[in-house]
Amino acid sequence: MNVARWLLASAHLHPEAPALLCGTTVEADYATFARRAAAIARALTTTYGVAPGDRIGVFMTNRTRYLECLYGIWWAGAAAVPVNAKLHGREAAWIFANAETRLAFAADHTLEALAEVAESESLPQLVDVDSAEFEAMRTLVNGPLGEPCPREADDLAWLFYTSGTTGRPKGVMLSHGNMVAMSLAYLADVDTARPEDAIVYAAPMSHGAGLYNFIHVRVAARHVVPASGGFDADEVLDLGHALGNLTFFAAPTIVRRLTDAAKKRGETGTGIKTIIYGGAPMYLADLEEAIAVMGQRFVQIYGQGESPMTITALARAFHADTATPTGRARLASVGTAQSVVEVRIADASGAPVPAGETGEILVKGSPVMLGYWRNPKATADAIRDGWLFTGDLGRLDGDGFLTLTDRSKDVIISGGTNIYPREVEEALLTHPAVSEVCVVGEPDPEWGENVVAYVVTAPGADVSDTELDAHCLAHIARFKRPKRYERREELPKSNYGKILKTVLRAEIAARGTAS
Ligand code: AMP
Repeated sequence: MNVARWLLASAHLHPEAPALLCGTTVEADYATFARRAAAIARALTTTYGVAPGDRIGVFMTNRTRYLECLYGIWWAGAAAVPVNAKLHGREAAWIFANAETRLAFAADHTLEALAEVAESESLPQLVDVDSAEFEAMRTLVNGPLGEPCPREADDLAWLFYTSGTTGRPKGVMLSHGNMVAMSLAYLADVDTARPEDAIVYAAPMSHGAGLYNFIHVRVAARHVVPASGGFDADEVLDLGHALGNLTFFAAPTIVRRLTDAAKKRGETGTGIKTIIYGGAPMYLADLEEAIAVMGQRFVQIYGQGESPMTITALARAFHADTATPTGRARLASVGTAQSVVEVRIADASGAPVPAGETGEILVKGSPVMLGYWRNPKATADAIRDGWLFTGDLGRLDGDGFLTLTDRSKDVIISGGTNIYPREVEEALLTHPAVSEVCVVGEPDPEWGENVVAYVVTAPGADVSDTELDAHCLAHIARFKRPKRYERREELPKSNYGKILKTVLRAEIAARGTAS
């Protein structure tokens, strides 16, 4: 089934329901949204010669036209290649070439980024979504909507390029069937979705945040792109008052910023229905504070591009118990396997390990990607016997709650012993003077690696290395505590709000082996 059928159904059932909003301004109802998508599909097919299965790029910041383009692409039976709008023109050009993208939608600064590299790179045909050409393209001159091009469950819908922290990015092939499974699991495991809801795109639509569109199109809810185009804590709190029933995805660092802003304004998150957090470790101390300030509005998901949004979920109900040891242990977990997947912990050979033991997290089920685009070797490494090897480490408890320890590549090996940075970070964050922290390993001739902590102190707070060391000694084993502290005004973050350990590691590598 083509996911664009969900838009067609909503246009039939709720034609006048507000669909696309920029801030508080309604830009299209469901009838208009569907007509624009159908028109774009027709233009793609008839004017631009796009055939089912062709790849079409979307390279722009968040805007309501993003959704029009996506649905136009799917309606035509083509596959979307959403590209992070912060990429360099050369990086975007590489992705377009790798995906053999036929055409790409772009706007303002991304068009400029491509123009700068146009002489040296071969680019697909570009359509400026702010142009008269696009306006004509999305206008259905006459006649009925027609039907989206038929697609099978295994047909490509979304080609998602991983951030590629090592080497070139890989194209994760997500099918229409993957999107449907992922979206239905949302209802079963994450949250309700209703017509009166408003899904807010406060993080880039090219990434995880964009995936929430499907289920909210299905139920004919409102899709809101903040006027700022991204995350601004005050803007989101204001939208809560103005629109009500907001749902949005937020990386943990964004939740932190929202908590601080709500506290400063003396607010409790009025008008926010659900904050779905995930994408990076949520530290218990931060989560407890967020719940204390904003109440029971939180749901956690754990997923990755290769099994989007859908590995585990920690439902709202499990956020209520912040007092008992079991409740707190669950709060520190990423929840239980979602209804459409099986989750297993495996040792280095891929064999399952008993509950309580740490190993690599494996996942199997209907949302798992088809594979990597034109990369059978990487696919064969990632999916073995139908199990996706996530590269994340964790352990399951007897009730099926999964606790993530770290990415396997983030583990620090010092004196032959594994140290999980997350544990050290959790300990340091319980110190009131510590606002943010990131723990990485640095090469050491004697120990193999040393633990280094990059610390951002809370505004106005001051704390010495000796005090931090004493704090660690009181909370974690002696051998895990950092050998060195570095102070930072801020930590490097991706535009999704993930702390970029790779940047800190690269800094260390550039400095050479510590002596
Ligand atoms: P991406 O493919 O860019 O979405 O990144 C996926 C990775 O983010 C996962 O493999 C995990 O390492 C991390 N991640 C995702 N969700 C969570 C979560 N809830 N808690 C901790 N880490 C997470």
